[in-house]
Amino acid sequence: MTRIGIIICDRYRRCAGGKCLRAMRNCEGAFSIYQPGEAQLVGYTTCDGCPGGNIEYACDEMVGNGAEVIHLATGLVVGYPPCPYMETFVDLIRAKYDLKVVVGTHPIPEKYKKMHEKLGTWEDPSWKAILKPTLADQETRVAYNG
Ligand code: SF4
Repeated sequence: MTRIGIIICDRYRRCAGGKCLRAMRNCEGAFSIYQPGEAQLVGYTTCDGCPGGNIEYACDEMVGNGAEVIHLATGLVVGYPPCPYMETFVDLIRAKYDLKVVVGTHPIPEKYKKMHEKLGTWEDPSWKAILKPTLADQETRVAYNG
């Protein structure tokens, strides 16, 4: 069993978490690193808005509840614009808590991929590694459009 915490972008604070939970259950997107039933959710919250003041507090609590991996939700990657603080969050969580950090949760929905291609958001080569856990195949991305 691997205990995980999910931190979502506050833009999506009304999100009920359906896509993340579905991907976790099906080992899709960034959850494909786990075996079925292996990932156990021990925390789910938002960053509390730019510039992410809740990251520290939330990780304190998640660590207290046994979190071994923190997933920064796919919303940080697909938002308009993507979260400008992502790298800082990853560095902070790794340095302060010595936890594994994964950028992403559920597969990127196809509609977001199309729009970001149009906008040229992800053209810089540095995006390749960021998108890798959640890019998935087209069929899966389409299934996460809804
Ligand atoms: S863009 Fe980043 S800092 Fe701002 S609300 Fe979203 S996750 Fe939080």
